[in-house]
Amino acid sequence: MNLYEYQGKQLFSRYGIPIPDGYVVDNKDKLKKFEHPVVVKSQILLGGRGKSGGIKFARKAEELAPAVNELLGSKIRDYTVKQLLVEQMLDIKKEYYVSIALNRADRAPVMIASPSGGVEIETVPDDKIFRKNIDPLLGYSTFLGKEAGSFMGFDKDLAAQFSKILQQMYRLFIEYDCELVEINPLVQTGDGKLVAADSKVVVDNDSLFRHKDLNNEDPEKTPLEREANEKGYAFVELDGKIGVIANGAGLTMATLDALTLHNGKPRNFLDLGGTDSTEIVVNAFDLVLKAKPEAILVNIFGGVTKCDTVAAGIVEAKKTYNIKQPMVVRLSGVREDEGRKILTDNGIDAFSEMMKAIEKVVSYVKVK
Ligand code: GDP
Ligand code: MG
Repeated sequence: MNLYEYQGKQLFSRYGIPIPDGYVVDNKDKLKKFEHPVVVKSQILLGGRGKSGGIKFARKAEELAPAVNELLGSKIRDYTVKQLLVEQMLDIKKEYYVSIALNRADRAPVMIASPSGGVEIETVPDDKIFRKNIDPLLGYSTFLGKEAGSFMGFDKDLAAQFSKILQQMYRLFIEYDCELVEINPLVQTGDGKLVAADSKVVVDNDSLFRHKDLNNEDPEKTPLEREANEKGYAFVELDGKIGVIANGAGLTMATLDALTLHNGKPRNFLDLGGTDSTEIVVNAFDLVLKAKPEAILVNIFGGVTKCDTVAAGIVEAKKTYNIKQPMVVRLSGVREDEGRKILTDNGIDAFSEMMKAIEKVVSYVKVK
Protein backbone atom coordinates (compact mmCIF):
# COMPACT_ATOMS: atom_id res chain seq x y z
CA MET A 1 0.00 0.00 0.00
CA ASN A 2 1.24 3.43 -0.94
CA LEU A 3 1.08 6.01 1.81
CA TYR A 4 0.32 9.64 1.12
CA GLU A 5 3.18 12.08 1.45
CA TYR A 6 1.82 13.44 4.74
CA GLN A 7 1.46 9.95 6.20
CA GLY A 8 5.03 9.09 5.23
CA LYS A 9 6.18 12.32 6.80
CA GLN A 10 4.30 11.56 10.02
CA LEU A 11 6.28 8.33 10.20
CA PHE A 12 9.51 10.20 9.39
CA SER A 13 8.81 12.59 12.21
CA ARG A 14 8.23 9.74 14.66
CA TYR A 15 11.53 8.24 13.59
CA GLY A 16 13.42 11.49 14.04
CA ILE A 17 13.87 12.22 10.34
CA PRO A 18 13.57 16.02 9.94
CA ILE A 19 10.51 17.27 8.00
CA PRO A 20 9.19 20.80 7.43
CA ASP A 21 6.46 22.13 9.77
CA GLY A 22 3.07 21.68 8.21
CA TYR A 23 -0.53 20.49 8.42
CA VAL A 24 -3.13 18.76 6.27
CA VAL A 25 -6.34 20.45 5.12
CA ASP A 26 -9.36 19.23 3.21
CA ASN A 27 -11.30 22.48 3.38
CA LYS A 28 -10.31 26.06 2.62
CA ASP A 29 -11.96 27.27 5.82
CA LYS A 30 -9.46 25.36 7.89
CA LEU A 31 -6.39 27.25 6.73
CA LYS A 32 -4.12 28.67 9.39
CA LYS A 33 -2.34 32.02 9.38
CA PHE A 34 1.34 31.84 8.51
CA GLU A 35 4.41 34.00 8.89
CA HIS A 36 6.75 32.29 6.49
CA PRO A 37 6.21 31.44 2.84
CA VAL A 38 4.47 28.07 2.40
CA VAL A 39 4.24 25.27 -0.14
CA VAL A 40 0.82 23.80 -0.89
CA LYS A 41 1.08 20.18 -1.97
CA SER A 42 -1.69 17.99 -3.39
CA GLN A 43 -1.95 14.71 -1.53
CA ILE A 44 -2.35 12.24 -4.34
CA LEU A 45 -0.60 8.94 -4.94
CA LEU A 46 1.31 10.14 -7.94
CA GLY A 47 4.91 11.17 -8.46
CA GLY A 48 5.89 14.23 -10.45
CA ARG A 49 3.28 16.46 -8.83
CA GLY A 50 5.65 19.37 -9.20
CA LYS A 51 5.60 19.06 -12.99
CA SER A 52 1.86 18.33 -13.24
CA GLY A 53 0.86 21.48 -11.37
CA GLY A 54 0.00 19.74 -8.10
CA ILE A 55 2.33 21.92 -6.04
CA LYS A 56 1.90 25.67 -5.51
CA PHE A 57 3.91 28.22 -3.59
CA ALA A 58 2.45 30.99 -1.46
CA ARG A 59 5.07 33.56 -0.61
CA LYS A 60 2.58 36.05 0.82
CA ALA A 61 -0.48 35.40 2.97
CA GLU A 62 -2.88 36.53 0.26
CA GLU A 63 -1.51 33.92 -2.15
CA LEU A 64 -2.55 31.01 0.06
CA ALA A 65 -6.34 30.98 -0.47
CA PRO A 66 -6.13 31.17 -4.30
CA ALA A 67 -3.58 28.32 -4.37
CA VAL A 68 -5.76 26.19 -2.13
CA ASN A 69 -8.91 26.98 -4.13
CA GLU A 70 -7.20 26.04 -7.33
CA LEU A 71 -5.87 22.71 -6.05
CA LEU A 72 -8.68 21.37 -3.83
CA GLY A 73 -11.08 19.36 -5.96
CA SER A 74 -8.94 19.66 -9.07
CA LYS A 75 -8.04 16.63 -11.15
CA ILE A 76 -4.45 15.64 -11.78
CA ARG A 77 -4.38 12.86 -14.30
CA ASP A 78 -6.89 10.38 -12.83
CA TYR A 79 -6.69 11.62 -9.27
CA THR A 80 -8.99 14.12 -7.59
CA VAL A 81 -7.24 16.25 -4.99
CA LYS A 82 -9.08 15.94 -1.68
CA GLN A 83 -6.35 16.87 0.75
CA LEU A 84 -3.50 19.33 0.76
CA LEU A 85 -0.34 19.46 2.80
CA VAL A 86 0.51 23.06 3.68
CA GLU A 87 4.14 23.31 4.69
CA GLN A 88 6.66 25.90 5.57
CA MET A 89 8.68 26.55 2.40
CA LEU A 90 12.22 25.30 2.56
CA ASP A 91 15.16 27.39 1.54
CA ILE A 92 16.65 24.81 -0.80
CA LYS A 93 20.38 24.91 -1.45
CA LYS A 94 20.68 21.47 -3.00
CA GLU A 95 18.42 18.46 -3.65
CA TYR A 96 19.50 14.85 -3.07
CA TYR A 97 17.92 11.44 -3.51
CA VAL A 98 17.89 8.64 -0.95
CA SER A 99 15.86 5.48 -0.56
CA ILE A 100 15.77 2.03 0.93
CA ALA A 101 14.04 -0.42 -1.36
CA LEU A 102 13.57 -4.15 -1.52
CA ASN A 103 16.07 -5.86 -3.78
CA ARG A 104 14.07 -8.97 -4.60
CA ALA A 105 16.80 -10.54 -6.71
CA ASP A 106 19.25 -10.43 -3.80
CA ARG A 107 16.60 -10.89 -1.12
CA ALA A 108 17.89 -7.92 0.81
CA PRO A 109 17.07 -4.28 1.37
CA VAL A 110 19.10 -2.02 -0.86
CA MET A 111 20.19 1.52 -0.10
CA ILE A 112 20.13 3.90 -3.03
CA ALA A 113 21.46 7.45 -2.84
CA SER A 114 22.36 10.15 -5.30
CA PRO A 115 23.62 13.72 -5.18
CA SER A 116 21.30 14.36 -8.17
CA GLY A 117 17.96 14.55 -6.39
CA GLY A 118 14.58 16.09 -7.13
CA VAL A 119 14.29 14.20 -10.42
CA GLU A 120 13.20 10.63 -11.03
CA ILE A 121 16.02 8.31 -10.05
CA GLU A 122 15.49 6.34 -13.28
CA THR A 123 16.78 9.35 -15.22
CA VAL A 124 20.00 9.69 -13.21
CA PRO A 125 23.13 8.17 -14.81
CA ASP A 126 24.53 5.10 -13.04
CA ASP A 127 27.80 6.73 -12.02
CA LYS A 128 25.82 9.27 -10.01
CA ILE A 129 24.05 6.57 -8.00
CA PHE A 130 25.29 4.85 -4.87
CA ARG A 131 23.69 1.44 -4.46
CA LYS A 132 24.47 -1.10 -1.77
CA ASN A 133 22.57 -3.98 -0.24
CA ILE A 134 22.07 -4.00 3.50
CA ASP A 135 22.63 -7.44 4.98
CA PRO A 136 19.32 -8.10 6.76
CA LEU A 137 21.08 -10.13 9.45
CA LEU A 138 23.59 -7.41 10.25
CA GLY A 139 21.30 -4.43 9.70
CA TYR A 140 22.40 -0.88 9.08
CA SER A 141 26.04 -0.07 9.81
CA THR A 142 27.53 3.37 10.34
CA PHE A 143 30.29 2.29 7.99
CA LEU A 144 27.74 2.02 5.19
CA GLY A 145 26.42 5.45 6.15
CA LYS A 146 29.92 6.93 5.94
CA GLU A 147 30.55 5.36 2.58
CA ALA A 148 27.27 6.75 1.23
CA GLY A 149 27.95 10.16 2.79
CA SER A 150 31.30 10.45 1.11
CA PHE A 151 29.78 9.44 -2.26
CA MET A 152 27.29 12.28 -1.79
CA GLY A 153 30.13 14.73 -1.22
CA PHE A 154 28.95 15.75 2.26
CA ASP A 155 31.19 17.52 4.74
CA LYS A 156 31.52 16.09 8.23
CA ASP A 157 28.45 17.80 9.63
CA LEU A 158 26.12 16.87 6.74
CA ALA A 159 27.53 13.35 6.67
CA ALA A 160 26.61 12.91 10.33
CA GLN A 161 23.06 14.14 9.70
CA PHE A 162 22.84 11.88 6.64
CA SER A 163 24.01 8.80 8.52
CA LYS A 164 21.40 9.36 11.21
CA ILE A 165 18.66 9.76 8.60
CA LEU A 166 19.73 6.55 6.87
CA GLN A 167 19.77 4.65 10.13
CA GLN A 168 16.23 5.81 10.94
CA MET A 169 15.00 5.12 7.41
CA TYR A 170 16.27 1.57 7.78
CA ARG A 171 14.50 1.14 11.13
CA LEU A 172 11.28 2.43 9.60
CA PHE A 173 11.74 0.16 6.58
CA ILE A 174 12.07 -2.92 8.79
CA GLU A 175 9.57 -2.07 11.51
CA TYR A 176 6.81 -1.17 9.05
CA ASP A 177 7.51 -4.03 6.62
CA CYS A 178 8.15 -1.58 3.81
CA GLU A 179 8.85 -2.25 0.18
CA LEU A 180 10.13 1.29 -0.24
CA VAL A 181 11.09 4.26 1.90
CA GLU A 182 12.10 7.10 -0.39
CA ILE A 183 13.04 10.73 0.19
CA ASN A 184 13.18 12.67 -3.06
CA PRO A 185 14.27 15.31 -2.64
CA LEU A 186 16.24 15.21 0.57
CA VAL A 187 17.04 18.86 0.83
CA GLN A 188 20.07 20.72 2.11
CA THR A 189 18.76 24.04 3.43
CA GLY A 190 20.50 27.39 3.44
CA ASP A 191 21.39 26.92 7.08
CA GLY A 192 23.02 23.54 6.50
CA LYS A 193 20.28 21.14 7.58
CA LEU A 194 19.10 18.01 5.78
CA VAL A 195 15.29 17.88 5.60
CA ALA A 196 12.90 15.45 3.89
CA ALA A 197 10.95 17.62 1.44
CA ASP A 198 8.97 14.67 0.06
CA SER A 199 8.16 11.13 1.15
CA LYS A 200 7.21 7.94 -0.58
CA VAL A 201 6.51 4.96 1.63
CA VAL A 202 5.14 1.66 0.34
CA VAL A 203 4.08 -0.91 2.95
CA ASP A 204 3.75 -4.60 2.06
CA ASN A 205 -0.01 -5.31 1.88
CA ASP A 206 0.42 -8.65 3.58
CA SER A 207 1.74 -6.93 6.69
CA LEU A 208 -1.07 -4.41 7.11
CA PHE A 209 -2.71 -6.51 9.82
CA ARG A 210 0.15 -5.64 12.12
CA HIS A 211 0.21 -1.95 11.30
CA LYS A 212 -3.24 -1.04 12.51
CA ASP A 213 -1.91 2.39 13.48
CA LEU A 214 -1.78 3.27 9.79
CA ASN A 215 -5.54 3.03 10.25
CA ASN A 216 -5.90 3.21 6.62
CA GLU A 217 -7.82 1.59 3.88
CA ASP A 218 -5.88 1.45 0.67
CA PRO A 219 -7.14 4.62 -1.05
CA GLU A 220 -6.51 3.06 -4.43
CA LYS A 221 -9.12 0.37 -3.88
CA THR A 222 -12.71 0.77 -5.08
CA PRO A 223 -15.56 0.22 -2.59
CA LEU A 224 -16.39 -3.10 -4.26
CA GLU A 225 -12.75 -4.23 -4.05
CA ARG A 226 -12.76 -3.37 -0.36
CA GLU A 227 -15.96 -5.33 0.23
CA ALA A 228 -14.52 -8.33 -1.65
CA ASN A 229 -11.22 -8.22 0.21
CA GLU A 230 -13.04 -8.06 3.54
CA LYS A 231 -14.91 -11.21 2.53
CA GLY A 232 -11.60 -12.89 1.76
CA TYR A 233 -11.52 -12.75 -2.04
CA ALA A 234 -8.63 -11.48 -4.14
CA PHE A 235 -10.63 -9.12 -6.33
CA VAL A 236 -9.74 -6.31 -8.71
CA GLU A 237 -12.14 -4.27 -10.81
CA LEU A 238 -11.26 -3.81 -14.46
CA ASP A 239 -13.02 -1.91 -17.21
CA GLY A 240 -14.32 -4.64 -19.52
CA LYS A 241 -17.70 -6.34 -19.80
CA ILE A 242 -17.07 -9.97 -18.86
CA GLY A 243 -17.31 -10.92 -15.20
CA VAL A 244 -14.72 -13.52 -14.25
CA ILE A 245 -14.66 -16.13 -11.51
CA ALA A 246 -11.68 -18.48 -11.54
CA ASN A 247 -9.57 -20.34 -9.02
CA GLY A 248 -5.94 -19.75 -8.28
CA ALA A 249 -4.16 -16.49 -9.10
CA GLY A 250 -2.31 -18.08 -12.02
CA LEU A 251 -5.38 -19.51 -13.71
CA THR A 252 -7.29 -16.28 -13.08
CA MET A 253 -4.54 -14.23 -14.72
CA ALA A 254 -4.40 -16.68 -17.63
CA THR A 255 -8.17 -16.31 -18.00
CA LEU A 256 -7.88 -12.53 -18.21
CA ASP A 257 -5.10 -12.86 -20.79
CA ALA A 258 -7.06 -15.34 -22.89
CA LEU A 259 -10.16 -13.12 -22.83
CA THR A 260 -8.14 -10.10 -23.84
CA LEU A 261 -6.49 -12.07 -26.63
CA HIS A 262 -9.97 -12.88 -27.96
CA ASN A 263 -11.09 -9.24 -27.73
CA GLY A 264 -13.29 -9.89 -24.74
CA LYS A 265 -12.37 -7.51 -22.00
CA PRO A 266 -12.69 -8.72 -18.40
CA ARG A 267 -14.71 -6.71 -15.91
CA ASN A 268 -12.81 -8.07 -12.92
CA PHE A 269 -10.27 -10.43 -11.42
CA LEU A 270 -11.72 -12.80 -8.83
CA ASP A 271 -9.83 -15.71 -7.36
CA LEU A 272 -12.09 -18.19 -5.55
CA GLY A 273 -9.13 -19.68 -3.73
CA GLY A 274 -9.04 -23.31 -2.77
CA THR A 275 -11.99 -23.96 -0.50
CA ASP A 276 -14.59 -26.56 -1.32
CA SER A 277 -17.85 -24.86 -0.42
CA THR A 278 -20.87 -23.74 -2.41
CA GLU A 279 -21.22 -20.67 -0.22
CA ILE A 280 -17.87 -19.31 -1.42
CA VAL A 281 -19.12 -19.65 -5.00
CA VAL A 282 -22.45 -18.00 -4.27
CA ASN A 283 -20.77 -15.06 -2.52
CA ALA A 284 -18.37 -14.68 -5.42
CA PHE A 285 -21.34 -14.26 -7.74
CA ASP A 286 -22.78 -11.62 -5.45
CA LEU A 287 -19.57 -9.59 -5.90
CA VAL A 288 -19.24 -10.10 -9.64
CA LEU A 289 -22.91 -9.19 -10.19
CA LYS A 290 -22.40 -5.94 -8.30
CA ALA A 291 -19.86 -5.06 -10.99
CA LYS A 292 -22.72 -5.35 -13.54
CA PRO A 293 -21.04 -7.50 -16.18
CA GLU A 294 -22.73 -8.23 -19.51
CA ALA A 295 -21.70 -11.89 -19.37
CA ILE A 296 -20.03 -14.14 -16.83
CA LEU A 297 -17.23 -16.64 -17.27
CA VAL A 298 -16.40 -19.22 -14.62
CA ASN A 299 -13.11 -21.02 -15.17
CA ILE A 300 -12.28 -23.75 -12.67
CA PHE A 301 -9.52 -26.28 -12.47
CA GLY A 302 -10.75 -28.73 -9.88
CA GLY A 303 -8.42 -29.91 -7.15
CA VAL A 304 -9.08 -28.96 -3.56
CA THR A 305 -12.04 -27.11 -5.03
CA LYS A 306 -14.16 -29.84 -6.60
CA CYS A 307 -15.96 -29.21 -9.87
CA ASP A 308 -19.32 -30.57 -8.68
CA THR A 309 -19.26 -28.30 -5.62
CA VAL A 310 -18.63 -25.31 -7.86
CA ALA A 311 -21.41 -26.43 -10.21
CA ALA A 312 -23.85 -26.72 -7.30
CA GLY A 313 -22.79 -23.25 -6.17
CA ILE A 314 -23.37 -21.83 -9.65
CA VAL A 315 -26.86 -23.32 -9.84
CA GLU A 316 -27.67 -21.97 -6.40
CA ALA A 317 -26.32 -18.52 -7.31
CA LYS A 318 -28.32 -18.45 -10.51
CA LYS A 319 -31.51 -19.05 -8.51
CA THR A 320 -30.60 -16.77 -5.60
CA TYR A 321 -29.69 -13.79 -7.74
CA ASN A 322 -31.94 -14.55 -10.68
CA ILE A 323 -28.99 -14.10 -13.01
CA LYS A 324 -30.05 -12.83 -16.43
CA GLN A 325 -26.64 -12.42 -18.02
CA PRO A 326 -25.35 -15.21 -20.24
CA MET A 327 -23.05 -17.46 -18.31
CA VAL A 328 -20.33 -19.79 -19.54
CA VAL A 329 -18.55 -22.31 -17.37
CA ARG A 330 -15.41 -24.32 -17.93
CA LEU A 331 -14.79 -27.15 -15.52
CA SER A 332 -11.77 -29.38 -15.62
CA GLY A 333 -10.17 -31.63 -13.01
CA VAL A 334 -11.58 -33.35 -9.96
CA ARG A 335 -15.24 -34.43 -10.49
CA GLU A 336 -15.59 -32.50 -13.75
CA ASP A 337 -18.09 -34.89 -15.35
CA GLU A 338 -20.39 -34.72 -12.33
CA GLY A 339 -20.01 -30.94 -12.32
CA ARG A 340 -20.83 -30.49 -16.00
CA LYS A 341 -23.87 -32.73 -15.67
CA ILE A 342 -25.25 -30.57 -12.85
CA LEU A 343 -24.80 -27.50 -15.05
CA THR A 344 -26.25 -28.85 -18.27
CA ASP A 345 -29.23 -30.25 -16.32
CA ASN A 346 -29.83 -26.66 -15.26
CA GLY A 347 -29.41 -25.14 -18.69
CA ILE A 348 -25.96 -23.63 -18.21
CA ASP A 349 -23.25 -23.87 -20.91
CA ALA A 350 -20.41 -26.06 -19.65
CA PHE A 351 -17.09 -26.84 -21.31
CA SER A 352 -14.03 -28.82 -20.39
CA GLU A 353 -11.75 -26.83 -22.67
CA MET A 354 -10.86 -23.34 -21.61
CA MET A 355 -10.54 -21.82 -25.09
CA LYS A 356 -13.99 -23.01 -26.11
CA ALA A 357 -15.47 -21.34 -23.04
CA ILE A 358 -13.53 -18.16 -23.77
CA GLU A 359 -14.76 -18.01 -27.37
CA LYS A 360 -18.34 -18.68 -26.29
CA VAL A 361 -18.45 -15.99 -23.62
CA VAL A 362 -16.80 -13.46 -25.92
CA SER A 363 -19.48 -14.17 -28.54
CA TYR A 364 -22.10 -12.93 -26.05
CA VAL A 365 -20.60 -9.49 -25.66
CA LYS A 366 -19.58 -8.91 -29.28
CA VAL A 367 -21.37 -6.06 -31.05
CA LYS A 368 -25.07 -6.50 -30.68
P1 GDP B 1 6.83 15.38 -6.56
O1 GDP B 1 7.03 16.23 -7.79
O2 GDP B 1 5.48 14.75 -6.53
O3 GDP B 1 7.92 14.38 -6.35
O4 GDP B 1 6.84 16.38 -5.30
P2 GDP B 1 8.07 16.93 -4.41
O5 GDP B 1 7.58 17.06 -3.03
O6 GDP B 1 9.27 16.10 -4.61
O7 GDP B 1 8.30 18.39 -4.97
C1 GDP B 1 8.77 18.63 -6.28
C2 GDP B 1 9.75 19.76 -6.31
O8 GDP B 1 9.15 20.95 -5.76
C3 GDP B 1 10.97 19.52 -5.44
O9 GDP B 1 11.97 18.77 -6.11
C4 GDP B 1 11.42 20.93 -5.16
O10 GDP B 1 12.23 21.42 -6.22
C5 GDP B 1 10.13 21.72 -5.12
N1 GDP B 1 9.77 21.94 -3.70
C6 GDP B 1 9.07 21.14 -2.89
N2 GDP B 1 8.99 21.64 -1.64
C7 GDP B 1 9.68 22.81 -1.67
C8 GDP B 1 10.00 23.81 -0.69
O11 GDP B 1 9.63 23.74 0.48
N3 GDP B 1 10.72 24.87 -1.12
C9 GDP B 1 11.14 25.01 -2.40
N4 GDP B 1 11.86 26.06 -2.74
N5 GDP B 1 10.90 24.08 -3.34
C10 GDP B 1 10.17 22.99 -2.98
MG1 MG C 1 9.40 14.03 -5.02
